[in-house]
Amino acid sequence: RRARDIGARVAFFEPRMHEEVARRVLQENRVSRALQEAEFQLHYQPRVELKSRRVVGLEALVRWRNPDGTVDPPALFIPFLEETGRIVEVGRWILRQALEDQAEWARRGFLPLPVAVNVSPVQLREPGFVNEVIDLVAQIEGAPGAAACGLEIEITESTAMSDIARTSAQLKTLRDHGVAIAIDDFGTGHSSLAYLALLPVSMLKIDRSFIATMLEQKDSRTIVEAVISLAHALGLSVVAEGVETRAQAALLERLACDQIQGFLIARPMDAWSVTAFLPQAGRTGAADRTEAR
Ligand code: C2E
Ligand code: MG
Ligand code: MG
Ligand code: MG
Repeated sequence: RRARDIGARVAFFEPRMHEEVARRVLQENRVSRALQEAEFQLHYQPRVELKSRRVVGLEALVRWRNPDGTVDPPALFIPFLEETGRIVEVGRWILRQALEDQAEWARRGFLPLPVAVNVSPVQLREPGFVNEVIDLVAQIEGAPGAAACGLEIEITESTAMSDIARTSAQLKTLRDHGVAIAIDDFGTGHSSLAYLALLPVSMLKIDRSFIATMLEQKDSRTIVEAVISLAHALGLSVVAEGVETRAQAALLERLACDQIQGFLIARPMDAWSVTAFLPQAGRTGAADRTEAR
């Protein structure tokens, strides 16, 4: 009976498995082509300090421009890249591109600003990851005329809390080489507060689900307040993500949140458009015109 069951299952699943394998091969070929044909693209979203109203950083967000001109958001392809491990290769390209864009802005006379890059747990699990990052920063910042602009790495709360001994050692090495660490989507995972205090982190980013609902839902507002207090108690700065309205920005300012990011300031934009947002040596930052209040 058991054997027949197994037989039936195999017969049932086999054709679908072939389909699945074929689909994967096709998709994986698309990734190689995308890297060759420069179909991946970085957009940047500025982050503003509430106190000064100035742009204090830029987050790199990857996009996939298909040959037909449509653009896929990361939610559509990052999970696949992670499952297949191809995020390692693509992530390498993302880091290099972000640092090169940043160096180019500095060369063109804009004040250096840190750039934040999202890093997947699959990249962190690669044994050579930390050294690669350090080498890349040294290579790009070591180029003639380059400025040290600062790199930040964003990892999600669940990534930060998994395999804590290893992650914490990796993050310490990065920090010792001048790379700042931010915990992304904070509030959506499970944090051990004891671990959080030990991790070499400099920033917490409150997940946008709490920001989106904090004006209507008491619970969300309580969480936002608690995360801000927690961050400050630990000596970290805190960023609210997904800020879309002036009312949200005003509440966050009252709650002493340090920085905001979101459509209220700007939608993610290409590297060229970003220069309109960058402060230039000798004049005040364009952020002053965004009036976050
Ligand atoms: P994240 O790191 O939390 O990035 C913030 C996401 O919120 C971005 O979506 C951004 O476009 C969106 N966003 C920003 N402001 C607002 C707002 O005011 N309202 C709303 N509704 N959304 C806002 P995006 O670009 O689709 O990225 C989604 C997620 O994909 C990111 O979340 C990050 O986890 C991942 N991701 C993006 N780029 C990369 C990358 O280069 N590497 C890796 N590993 N993951 C990436
Ligand atoms: Mg992020
Ligand atoms: Mg986030
Ligand atoms: Mg998020």
